[in-house]
Amino acid sequence: MVELTPDCQKCAALCCVALAFDKGEMFAFDKAAGVACKHLQGHRCAIHTELESAGLRGCARYQCDGAGQRVVQEVFAGASWQDDPALLRPMLDAFAQMRQVHGLLALLQTASGLPLDAAQRAELAVLTTRLSPHVWTSQSLAAFERSDAPNAVQSFLQSLKTLV
Ligand code: SF4
Repeated sequence: MVELTPDCQKCAALCCVALAFDKGEMFAFDKAAGVACKHLQGHRCAIHTELESAGLRGCARYQCDGAGQRVVQEVFAGASWQDDPALLRPMLDAFAQMRQVHGLLALLQTASGLPLDAAQRAELAVLTTRLSPHVWTSQSLAAFERSDAPNAVQSFLQSLKTLV
């Protein structure tokens, strides 16, 4: 079973670098994609327990569906962009791709709770298997992104609309 709950202890603060946000109701300041947040200290958010009062409600609510720790531990064998800056770009690319994989897996997991017929359940199993290779690599994530798998999952989910 793929872990879809974030484990930030096993990550390298990928969301704190990868994601962009704009100053507004959810975020107290602007941040560009690919730039480390000013509150990041090492691999941890220095104001993690005060995010709401610091005007960073968007950070408090964000979760990566477990993509972050999987990129660090599985794709990069525990390495960090902080120790080797050359890893930053490939780690951020892999994080974007893994977020897509885990986001789709989370949707399929939710769909498994619907009253599916046998054919739908079989298709769900096939699609889940396509999203769950034994090990993800940078190469297989890039190939996944270019494949028809994301659209196949979306089409399947669309076909279940009447069951929701
Ligand atoms: S990317 Fe996910 S696992 Fe990593 S720090 Fe952010 S929420 Fe936690």
